Amino acid sequence: MRPNVHTLVFLYSGHHDRNGFKVGMNEYVSLQHINRKIQECTHIKIVIAFMDCCQPERIRVNEEQRLIQLSATVSTDSAISLRNEGSPFTKLLVQAFTMKASGGTCALPNCECRIDGPFITIDSLSHYLEIHRQNGLLRDMEPEKSLIKITWQNECLAYNYSYKVAFRFDIVLPQPFTSKRHRFEVLATTVNDFDALIQKILFPRFAGRRRCTVDLI
Ligand SMILES: [Zn+2]
Repeated sequence: MRPNVHTLVFLYSGHHDRNGFKVGMNEYVSLQHINRKIQECTHIKIVIAFMDCCQPERIRVNEEQRLIQLSATVSTDSAISLRNEGSPFTKLLVQAFTMKASGGTCALPNCECRIDGPFITIDSLSHYLEIHRQNGLLRDMEPEKSLIKITWQNECLAYNYSYKVAFRFDIVLPQPFTSKRHRFEVLATTVNDFDALIQKILFPRFAGRRRCTVDLI
């Protein structure tokens, strides 16, 4: 890891049991291993961790490091992940960090949640999680917060961007179709994965206009 990096963001969303975090078919990484690696990185001053798994344990940092950890549930409980929908905790985190910026709406119909101000703080994120715990979006999970050496002065997690986030694509057709450039803008909220972006968003818009088939690279 680069020595000039002082903030480490750790996010895990997946299976976890007594063997550790499941990272492959029969492959596990223990939290002890991760703790050791983090503690060895003496240039890391703050660890921001999101632990979305069953029986999430608390990360152990060294004496110089600070920790902000938000877990999907308490360490004795199981996290919930819905088939074909993924994890409600991770989805809510993504929503919190991007909704305002992306101009989107809450996954919960009629919910008018928002985080105001230029920063997302531990308090505002905790409040955001709590609202959605109460209205059922997190199912029965009770998110848990662990803080080490954190005060009001260093509790900012991220900028709360207030502008629209969109990807702009310039599509150039190979000869002999046309040399004209086609520009499309796609809102970040509409993109879930790269294949869907190509096949379901970009290609139909393009093919609908030009009535021809082309590979987008
Ligand atoms: Zn909401």
